[in-house]
Amino acid sequence: MNTLAIDIGGTKLAAALINDEHKIFQRTEISTPANAAPQALEQALARLVDVYQGQAQRVAVASTGIIDKGILTALNPDNLGGLNHFPLQATVEKLTGLPCVVLNDAQAAAWAEYCYLSAQFKHVTFITVSTGVGGGVVVNGELLTGPYAFAGHIGHIQADPNGPLCGCGRVGCVEAIASGRAIAAAAGHELEGKNTREIFAQAQSGNAQAQQLMTRSAQAICQLIANIKALLDTECIVLGGSVGLAQGYRQQVEQQLAQSPAAFQVPIYAAHYQHDAGLMGAALWSENHSA
Ligand SMILES: [Zn+2]
Repeated sequence: MNTLAIDIGGTKLAAALINDEHKIFQRTEISTPANAAPQALEQALARLVDVYQGQAQRVAVASTGIIDKGILTALNPDNLGGLNHFPLQATVEKLTGLPCVVLNDAQAAAWAEYCYLSAQFKHVTFITVSTGVGGGVVVNGELLTGPYAFAGHIGHIQADPNGPLCGCGRVGCVEAIASGRAIAAAAGHELEGKNTREIFAQAQSGNAQAQQLMTRSAQAICQLIANIKALLDTECIVLGGSVGLAQGYRQQVEQQLAQSPAAFQVPIYAAHYQHDAGLMGAALWSENHSA
């Protein structure tokens, strides 16, 4: 049986077929429409799934935003142009004629990473530090989604009550301090206008401001991990995302966490599935959660 997996991100829509051996093939990608009108997303999805006609028996979708009972809502109005209450599951079922499961992308990635580690651990928390900060929580072998699908949105746990305003409308969220967007926004002087990749390259070559920005981000993630350990007693953390996987970043988080009391310490692994985490997680999830 093939699953058609779809990943809806803020900048691109990806799709692929995933077979029973969990091999990914026929991966394609198109840009997410700049226009936030629901018709624009529906047309883009139609274009994306068209090439897979007759090749899959079910569909699994991972998407940015809150995915509650098949409906997509953007938590941050800047993402997906503020697209709200989009009937994602019904739209994909109509376009493909196949049964469909839908899941938040970070929750899907958490499920993929958990499945990879499930021989060792039953309690795993995934944190992605990228343009934003997201996550997903697996407790006792179950993905925590919550009654309103909001579980695991750990980028919006508060890190500093006097911190910057977050895109979600709250003040001082981890995302507003640690994310790639936040790092770039806080950069001044010689780093002004540079993206996170350029700032991290500067940090590697000894620029003091760049190092400080990286440390500030890693500190916020370290405190987040300690809070998660206190709340869930998670057995391991999986760190992903372009910032989370940047050279030296995870080691900084580990060094800071090592200075915390023993009860707050937890091993931190680099994410196994990188840009395919959403696709793989949604497909793996659909195996046990199809209608
Ligand atoms: Zn927030």
